[in-house]
Amino acid sequence: MSVSGSATPVTVRDVVEVMEEAYPLSFAEKWDHPGLISGALDDVVEKIVFSVDLTPQVLEIALSAGADMVITHHPVLFKAVHTVAANTPKGSLIHRAIQAGCALYCAHTNADNACPGVNDALADALGLIVERPLVPLNPEGLDRWVVHVPGSHVPAVQEAVFAAGAGKLGDYSECSFRVDGTGQFRPQDNAQPYAGSVGQLKSVMEARIEFVAPRALRASIKDAINASHPYEEPSYDILESQAPAPAFDQSTAPGSGKICRLPEPLTLREFTDRVADALPDTVWGVRAAGDPGHIIEKVAICGGAGGSYLDTVMKTDADCFVTSDLRHHPVDDYLQAGGTCVIDTAHAASEYPWLAQAADLIADNLAVTTEVLPACTDPWTLHSK
Ligand SMILES: [Zn+2]
Repeated sequence: MSVSGSATPVTVRDVVEVMEEAYPLSFAEKWDHPGLISGALDDVVEKIVFSVDLTPQVLEIALSAGADMVITHHPVLFKAVHTVAANTPKGSLIHRAIQAGCALYCAHTNADNACPGVNDALADALGLIVERPLVPLNPEGLDRWVVHVPGSHVPAVQEAVFAAGAGKLGDYSECSFRVDGTGQFRPQDNAQPYAGSVGQLKSVMEARIEFVAPRALRASIKDAINASHPYEEPSYDILESQAPAPAFDQSTAPGSGKICRLPEPLTLREFTDRVADALPDTVWGVRAAGDPGHIIEKVAICGGAGGSYLDTVMKTDADCFVTSDLRHHPVDDYLQAGGTCVIDTAHAASEYPWLAQAADLIADNLAVTTEVLPACTDPWTLHSK
């Protein structure tokens, strides 16, 4: 939680910008629709509450706590809807939030695929060291980047993109090509140009710099350019090289799930206990399939329902797959086909660690109060035997 005063009120727009910088909407799966669910961009926000799901109980707790925004992982409206009438379950939630002046926002598969994202938070909670995404967001391969930069800022941009993983060729690092020339632009109304004035044609001595980078790092390289380039609208092109990408550190590459390693091997029994200890309590706890004495070193994880990745995990060297919502036949088939161990947690529990990451992100960037609700929104309430 953080509180600080500020002369300029924080708005829903500010919160959306911070969230979508860290969890770009372009990272979302095609079937998903994360983002602002309800609320107005100019509304002032003073307190944000975080929860995996928005249930009627969560909304009442949030409103009682004085929240004027709730950020969830799961969308409130997921399937297509044709009504948000107040006599429907989802419609009543939306009505209640709007009437109370509380904005609703969700970061779903965009937060799953971002790095850091849901699975980095899960890995941290389980004491795992992330090695790479289970399924990289961008296909394998190499990009050639072409960026136009004012000469004075070439070293800064180069330093930023090299730090993000660009410019490596075989045994060489910081590889780059540069040619100098003249760029021009005419700033339009509302522009806030680094050089020149609105309405005036401006010429600038610029360098065209080129470098290569693994395609899997495309998002990180874009971020590095935007952070180091002085222009409001940096100009760059990405060309897809036919050359194979060299080996690189994939631990910060975006994508679904993660391949991780334990700092020290544990048996399946020990690791299952660790998972149960690290995640919020649920009535039916954590269950595992496989030999309880099997030694676990490499671990695949996927916060939320990751059963569709069983075949993908099978092709890796992971000793164990931690995910949620696993079903009888897929797990049985997985084990019979040579898969070793799986650990099944409550869905909301495996995504819960991300809430603190998102709350810290907001608190580090905006003068608002943040609070992660302690309640895990797993719907199961009883477990017998
Ligand atoms: Zn989920």
